[in-house]
Amino acid sequence: MAELSPVLKQATPVVAARGEGAHIYDEDGRRYLDFTAGIGVTSTGHCHPRVVAAAQEQVATLIHGQYTTVMHRPLLRLTERLGGVLPAGLDRLFYVNSGSEAVEAALRLARQATGRQNAIVFQGSFHGRTMGAASLTTSGTKIRAGIGPLVPGVVVAPFPYAYRLGMSEEDAVAYALREFDELLITVTSPLDTAAVFIEPVLGEGGYVPAPDAFLQGLRERADAHGFLLVADEVQTGFGRTGTFWGHEPSGIVPDIVITAKGLASGFPLSAIAAPEALMAKAWPGSQGGTYGGNAVSCAAALATLDVIEEEGLVDNAARMGERLRQGLEKVAQASPLIGDVRGRGLMLASEFTSGGRPDAAAALRAQQAAVRHGLLLLTCGPAGNVVRMIPPLVVDGDQVDAALTAWEASVAEASA
Ligand code: PMP
Repeated sequence: MAELSPVLKQATPVVAARGEGAHIYDEDGRRYLDFTAGIGVTSTGHCHPRVVAAAQEQVATLIHGQYTTVMHRPLLRLTERLGGVLPAGLDRLFYVNSGSEAVEAALRLARQATGRQNAIVFQGSFHGRTMGAASLTTSGTKIRAGIGPLVPGVVVAPFPYAYRLGMSEEDAVAYALREFDELLITVTSPLDTAAVFIEPVLGEGGYVPAPDAFLQGLRERADAHGFLLVADEVQTGFGRTGTFWGHEPSGIVPDIVITAKGLASGFPLSAIAAPEALMAKAWPGSQGGTYGGNAVSCAAALATLDVIEEEGLVDNAARMGERLRQGLEKVAQASPLIGDVRGRGLMLASEFTSGGRPDAAAALRAQQAAVRHGLLLLTCGPAGNVVRMIPPLVVDGDQVDAALTAWEASVAEASA
């Protein structure tokens, strides 16, 4: 009898039988509030009727219209629609299946377009598990350990993680930009630097927002030296942070935007967007893949965009995010274990520390207690001491309050 490989690590013992909105039901009919959203994917909630109907209709019409062989309408319509939500000028797109694949594609694109090799990433960043994406990932050595040699040409710069650095946000930004400039002088010449990759909110690395001034500083440096600014919006995009894109509040426009997770409500789909002049430098045929831009995924993505717009989910993420943040702060004030609450929109986290040091055991106790209280959560952060909340963007006030009640009890249990 075959069994699942132990290489997969599971955060909860739950076996999901079905999902509806912000809830998951296990095989015994027990209901859980799903504040993981399948790692930030099911933004429209589980099985939103509009997404289900669009996918069902597409399944019966055309499942696989392979886009480098024959084009299909859902992909063309989605491309048009994404033009309406992407930053102006990023109007050339192509599609693959996952965040990692899209990151790999962006790295290849950046190298081809600039004729340079190196990529700068930030310490604590997560860009994926495939070899190229893992080479850009420093959110934890478990992603990199034992698989080297990794793709060369990756330079790691410090992220302005103010809480960990023990600095004000302003000082953390000044420090990180100073170090960034130093790397351009000492490690990777601008002549060799193709791109800088940044998550507008550091995701797996601990839910640390990149301050606006930091993104603006990177934009200035990219312009001054002719390298590309790549926004990895895989986790932050599609309304998650209370604006459509995580980079939006900073006012900058990236050269490349990568989107995945929330794009198709759970169907595998990712997209890479860049200006025409940049895409024109890529070699035709050097990107793509058998399943990229799957017709059912594209139909689900179109329905996802309809739902986000018609149900005002970006605003809901901002409003519910504020409600959730206030509750998390109250719980943190009452607990000596939680040193910091942070995030944006519905991408929020509590960092567990003891005596000023990361306390992964306490974070795990709280996360596991939450499962017993019917609330599904995930941990993150390089030390695993951060508990994150990423509910679907359809979450309502009662569900946020119920999650906070469960969280308060879980933190109390973790402290006992
Ligand atoms: N980039 C970011 C910012 C992510 O959060 C993730 C997934 N957590 C990835 C890339 C990789 O995406 P995937 O798991 O779909 O390959």
